[in-house]
Amino acid sequence: MDPVKEMPVEQLINELQSSGVRLVDPKSGGTTRRGGAGPTDHTAMTFGDTTVMVPVHTAPAFESPYLVEKPDGSGNSVITRNGAPIGKVKFNLRPRFYELSTADGIPYSHIATLHSRDVLATTVLQTCIRYQSRTKACKFCAIGQSLAAGRTIERKTPEQLGEVAKAAVELDGVKHMVMTTGTPPGRDRGAKIMCESAIGVKAAVDIPIQGQCEPPEDNEWFQRMADAGIDSLGMHLEAVTDAVRAHVMPGKAQVSMERYFEAFAAAVDVFGKAQVSTYILAGLGDTKEQILDVCRRLADIGVYPFVVPFVPVGGTPMESSPSPKPAFMHEILAPLADILHNAGIRSMDIKAGCAKCGACSALSSYEKRLQS
Ligand code: SF4
Repeated sequence: MDPVKEMPVEQLINELQSSGVRLVDPKSGGTTRRGGAGPTDHTAMTFGDTTVMVPVHTAPAFESPYLVEKPDGSGNSVITRNGAPIGKVKFNLRPRFYELSTADGIPYSHIATLHSRDVLATTVLQTCIRYQSRTKACKFCAIGQSLAAGRTIERKTPEQLGEVAKAAVELDGVKHMVMTTGTPPGRDRGAKIMCESAIGVKAAVDIPIQGQCEPPEDNEWFQRMADAGIDSLGMHLEAVTDAVRAHVMPGKAQVSMERYFEAFAAAVDVFGKAQVSTYILAGLGDTKEQILDVCRRLADIGVYPFVVPFVPVGGTPMESSPSPKPAFMHEILAPLADILHNAGIRSMDIKAGCAKCGACSALSSYEKRLQS
């Protein structure tokens, strides 16, 4: 984007992720995704050397003051705020690996998708023990939507993941991979399927992988995941206080904060400082002080707290809940960048995954400001 005179880039990201954008030409907005795990109803937008995920299909986005005009011949689009141009953005071209299908006819895009500019992301198991019951499901989650709409398949085999990862690396220059999963039944809580999937990918192509699962009951799984080829691990708190956890994610809250912290410490012993991270969704009900308190505890034990703004997804019980205001994000992310800096934890040192990608939050831009 051209220099935005009145606003630092990290605050512009907060604004865009809070308000979303409207697209004059919906076809210009790159490859957007709807439903599923991770950033849904978003598109990747690049300004300068920064790529961010911005909501385009959410209710707030339809009323956003930010409007993206049709692209010019070189693919740049002017973005305006309340009608005044503030710079230029670019969208991803459709990845080349999306044109391919497996021998049995499954489109590669139903197995994994491109996130941001150079991240391959997949949900290896598109069902979840939590999601099957309305009283247990996380209220913000849309993991079943893309499956119901036929845009993905329920279980991606290790061979399929390897085949698609190889193509994405060779055709589109993908640099790292995120593998998440719905939580299957059983004590491993997804760690086993992470192992099987990582083995399949690493047999086909050498790409750093972040695995994401709930804390397994047995800490032995951390070494097994590392041995299978997982380079970085995400175990996602989402909310940080017992009251909000019980309200927003009643099933997942059965795994206590105490167990998460034990698991974080054991995982850092295996994967190393900053190679373990956790997603925290700001805007679910925790206060900024509560979020920062937990982030301090995490940084102290070498875990990267990836704080992102909650974005409501249509069709979920929280679809009408607001995203946090940009000021709320700023008041968390600015001090959090200091906490990380003082703890010697940097997103750029992470081998793979969301905290390395950073496109779902302005946090890495706050970090860069401290490093420059
Ligand atoms: S931060 Fe994670 S979920 Fe967000 S775009 Fe990057 S890889 Fe995808």
